[in-house]
Amino acid sequence: MIENTIAIQVQNAFKTYVAGNREIQALATTDLTIRLGEFVCLLGASGCGKSTLLNLIAGLETPTGGTVMANGQPVTGPGTDRVLMFQDAALFPWLTVKENVEFGLKQTKTQKAQRDSIVQNWIDRVRLTGFENGSVYQLSGGMRQRVALARSLAIDPAILLMDEPFGALDALTRDRLHVELESIWKATRKTIVFVTHNVREAVALGDRVLVFSPRPGRIIGEFKITLPRPRMLEDISVVKKTAEVMDVLRGALEAGPGELEGAYI
Ligand code: ADP
Ligand code: MG
Repeated sequence: MIENTIAIQVQNAFKTYVAGNREIQALATTDLTIRLGEFVCLLGASGCGKSTLLNLIAGLETPTGGTVMANGQPVTGPGTDRVLMFQDAALFPWLTVKENVEFGLKQTKTQKAQRDSIVQNWIDRVRLTGFENGSVYQLSGGMRQRVALARSLAIDPAILLMDEPFGALDALTRDRLHVELESIWKATRKTIVFVTHNVREAVALGDRVLVFSPRPGRIIGEFKITLPRPRMLEDISVVKKTAEVMDVLRGALEAGPGELEGAYI
C-alpha cells in the first residue's frame, strides 16, 4: 500500500506567530511528502522557517492551518516515534555519558538488562567506547553531538529530525560525523529530515534537497541527489553538484550571487 511507504506528510500547513500586535508568518503554506527511509535535507537561509517546519513535525508546535502526519498518524504532540536533535546537544551535565544515552530509554518500559545492552551498542556505534562513565562537560563539541545522536537513536524512533546538528563543529569533525550518520542511516533505514543552511552539507547527505525561500519560508526548489555514497564534503562530484544547486538558486531567487553565497554557504 502506498500509505505504508510514507513517513511524513505535510498538507497545506502554515505557521503564523503573534508577537504583541504583530503577526509573523514563519512558514508559508507548505506541502511535503517524505518517504519511509528517505534522507531529506531542508536548505534555506536563517529565519526562513526551517526550524518551524521541523517543530511542526516533532509536535512541539501546532500549525496555524493545515495538517501534519507522521508514521500514518496525525501529529498532535511529541512522540517516541520522532526525535528532534539540535545544534546544541542539550545534554544533562550532571549525568554521565552513559546516563545521558539511557535517559530517553528509562522513560520506556525497557528492562534494565536490555537497556544496558542498547546503550552500550549505541555508545560503540558513535565511537564513544571508553567514555561511558565520563562527564559530558569534559567532551568536545563533536563528542557531545555523538552522545546526543546515541541518546536519540537509543529509543529507536522511526523518524530522526535534525536541526543544524553539526553547525557549530569544525569542518573535519563535521565530515567525520557525516560519514558516521550516513552509515547509521544505511544500517537502520531511519527516515531523516536534516535542516541546514549549507548547500554542500545538504548535497553531501541528502537523497533529496528541498530549498526554502527567505521569510516567509516556502519550498521553491527540489533536487534529487543520486551521487554514490559514502560522500565526503570535498568529493569532486559533491562540489560540482553544489555549484549546480547554487546556479539554480541564484536564478530562482533573482538575487545577486554575493548575497546568496552569504546566505547559503
Ligand atoms: P530558521 O530555522 O529557518 O532560521 P525559524 O523557523 O526559527 O527559522 O523562524 C522563522 C521565523 O519565525 C523567524 O522570523 C523567527 O523570528 C520567527 N519565529 C520563530 N519562532 C517564533 C516564536 N516563537 N515567536 C515569534 N516569532 C517566531
Ligand atoms: Mg533554525
